Amino acid sequence: MELRLYNTLTRSKEVFTPLQPPRVGLYTCGPTVYNYAHIGNLRTYIFEDILKRVLTYNGFKVKHVMNITDVGHLTGDRDMGEDKLEKGARREGKTAWEIAEYYTEAFQKDLKHLNIQDPTLWCKATDTIGEQIGLIRKLEDKGYTYRTSDGIYFDTAKFDHYNKLSHQNLEALEEGARVEKNPEKRNATDFALWKFSPPDEQRQMEWESPWGTGFPGWHIECSAMSMKFLKEMLDIHCGGTDHIDVHHTNEIAQSEAATGKPFFNFWMHGAFLIISGGKKMAKSEGNFLTLESSFIRKGLDPLVYRYAAFQSHYRKPMEYSEEGIEAARNGLQHLRNQVRVLADAGPATEVDPASKDKFTDTINNDLNMPQAMAVVQEVLKSDLDPGAKLATVIDFDRVLGFDLDKIGEDQALPDEIQSLVDARIQARKDKEWALSDQLRDQIQDKGYVVQDSAQGMKVFKA
Ligand SMILES: [Zn+2]
Repeated sequence: MELRLYNTLTRSKEVFTPLQPPRVGLYTCGPTVYNYAHIGNLRTYIFEDILKRVLTYNGFKVKHVMNITDVGHLTGDRDMGEDKLEKGARREGKTAWEIAEYYTEAFQKDLKHLNIQDPTLWCKATDTIGEQIGLIRKLEDKGYTYRTSDGIYFDTAKFDHYNKLSHQNLEALEEGARVEKNPEKRNATDFALWKFSPPDEQRQMEWESPWGTGFPGWHIECSAMSMKFLKEMLDIHCGGTDHIDVHHTNEIAQSEAATGKPFFNFWMHGAFLIISGGKKMAKSEGNFLTLESSFIRKGLDPLVYRYAAFQSHYRKPMEYSEEGIEAARNGLQHLRNQVRVLADAGPATEVDPASKDKFTDTINNDLNMPQAMAVVQEVLKSDLDPGAKLATVIDFDRVLGFDLDKIGEDQALPDEIQSLVDARIQARKDKEWALSDQLRDQIQDKGYVVQDSAQGMKVFKA
């Protein structure tokens, strides 16, 4: 069955074939680690996880690279403003390196909570400075760069089809940028490859380069890292839709200018999360919900968010509301209960081929998860025998990622946690609510999620 994916480059669904089947190179732009990821960011990583799982489900062998931006991403997308890491360091009174480490760990923990599989390879921008300098030198040799008082810039007018990904009207952009604060730039779309350290200021992160002490621009790291780690497997490059106009457009320009070869065949982008009322979730908008604040601290299983994300297609904005999350919570609980009943009835037997075909059709149609979830319910309501239903749904869970295969297994809690749980069950029986709350806090402080519902209390590792 063909896998068809929407390619932002061509604005159409295309049959996906990798350069070196069955291997697939997948590069996903990672976080800038100066703050927690908000759940809008995490939606993009859920989409990318589904993409990777669907590729694997189709028999491809995926090499997945994700970068960690720990330097060079300025607060303004067009190379103005401050370095986000150095700004975060000042805000929290830590070093930029400590900030990067702290938020990298927080991000990786978020991914685990959401059952997002780790990439094959994590790479930090600061670990590939040499490769980035090498790439800039190549561009310099080919005449694509120029020097200003604050850095080395890429001359976008020298690269044909600069807007091939974004389809932007470049003349209008040029017109609109007249007020820009950097008069040394030749074109509005030119971007920094290397920024000089300010003469009057000691930066925490800076390196020597042929052009002077400084740090790389944000975009160059993704070009350098994908070429270094994926080499001739530049198949799919992903990010959020906010990456299309600047970040990914600049990655393509500098990479293709340097190598003279196409840089990734497929470009895929996940749409925004919209807060009910129509606002995009963004750090700058002040509506900043994290997995910790919106799920874990409330005792809500973070996988509820994963389930909620499957209710919208990844290219459509997803609306976030309390009601939507409540519906997802019920949906996931219902699904787990259905699987539990099957698991109690007996072991899984054979996957039903007709159902598998139908499921594959939906996921291979540009990752249509809302329809895939409908197929799951069709199977559960069908007249297949329980063993076949169980085997089929567990097979689908390779893509869904709800740990359905673990339902029915004993998930024993450590003794210390179990005794707190037992004490809380007793406290609730005795209607000692203050004590019950206190015990819940104790359990949560030890890294477990406590979830109360009509069926009783559920406790699991956060
Ligand atoms: Zn990137």
